[in-house]
Amino acid sequence: MASTTTVSYAENLMKYMKLDQKGSAMAEYIWIDSTGGVRTKSKTLTSVPKDGQFKVEDLPEWNFDGSSTGQAPGDNSDVYLRPVAIFPDPLRGAPNILVLTECWDPDGTPNKFNHRHEAAKLAEAHKDHKPWFGLEQEYTLLDLSDRPYGWPVNGFPGPQGPYYCGVGTGKVYCRDIVEAHYKACLYAGIKISGTNAEVMPAQWEFQVGPCVGIELGDHLWMARFLLHRVAEEFGAKISFHPKPIPGDWNGAGLHSNFSTEEMRKEGGMKHIEAAIKKLEARHKEHIAVYGEDNTLRLTGRHETGSIDSFTYGVANRGSSVRIPRECAHKGYGYFEDRRPASNADPYQITGIMMETILGGLDD
Ligand code: ADP
Ligand code: MN
Ligand code: MN
Ligand code: MN
Ligand code: MN
Repeated sequence: MASTTTVSYAENLMKYMKLDQKGSAMAEYIWIDSTGGVRTKSKTLTSVPKDGQFKVEDLPEWNFDGSSTGQAPGDNSDVYLRPVAIFPDPLRGAPNILVLTECWDPDGTPNKFNHRHEAAKLAEAHKDHKPWFGLEQEYTLLDLSDRPYGWPVNGFPGPQGPYYCGVGTGKVYCRDIVEAHYKACLYAGIKISGTNAEVMPAQWEFQVGPCVGIELGDHLWMARFLLHRVAEEFGAKISFHPKPIPGDWNGAGLHSNFSTEEMRKEGGMKHIEAAIKKLEARHKEHIAVYGEDNTLRLTGRHETGSIDSFTYGVANRGSSVRIPRECAHKGYGYFEDRRPASNADPYQITGIMMETILGGLDD
């Protein structure tokens, strides 16, 4: 029988979350730090527009101590936060908002870790091609001792096979986190296009897209933020490491699907093939921004191509670039760059893809 003196912490929190905010809104300012993590701090906005729709240009610029995040030296530590996109806040509910920001230095130049600025310029320069991106974010759930969630403490789960898109106890772990994250993304207006359990147990994927240009990076970073935040409430950690467990366990990637308007039309295959030739010529430059520790993942095994060579093929999951079977059959559509690691920055991926395929800013 439930005791009347039992304290429910979740219920206690709800009591405060329901309190009236007296006309103010909470804005969670979010930025990307020097390690590919996200940081946030909250700001009170003392008035809410009548229609509840905040606009980026109405939000104040803010700042933080960059010496505490590895983004600035201690003797010149202010880094500025410039709002670039607003999302409804699924954690606090209306009228509160999430504010994605870019980091800028006091001298008026983008912070070293602000990869969005360059990518946004490329997206603007090439907007007539209507570049679409769809990224598949794989990640691993860890427990507090950094072991994949649900794995035996001393030993390993059975070999890979039953886990990919698996259903049932022992085949999937932490579906509650995945479901909560999916709902949170939809509430926030993030263009999440699906989720699935991955080949390694405790590894999952969600897809974002198709998004046009810079929108992909914005939505993917917000989806990453929400994943960390939701998992925090369930006591799990999120790892974006591309090879969290060495050996016969799949790594984690960030497959990047791309098309332009020309590729999506009748006869598009010749544009897809031309793009792949350009990617081949700049393999090393792409690998350089496709994530840390990707050598551990791109071995040519576990559904990857080798990091040292560029290959492509129809329906080939062991190549660098895959043309989906259906696109090859129709003669137009999109292609998939399978090289990016799960910890890569989507701004850098989308930026270099536009630069290589559509041209640099000086071209
Ligand atoms: P996979 O078969 O590789 O697992 P997924 O279904 O997980 O593929 O992901 C495919 C991704 O491709 C989705 O994010 C989707 O939005 C994206 N996508 C679909 N069509 C296009 C397109 N024409 N251009 C760019 N991306 C696309
Ligand atoms: Mn302080
Ligand atoms: Mn996928
Ligand atoms: Mn996958
Ligand atoms: Mn894929």
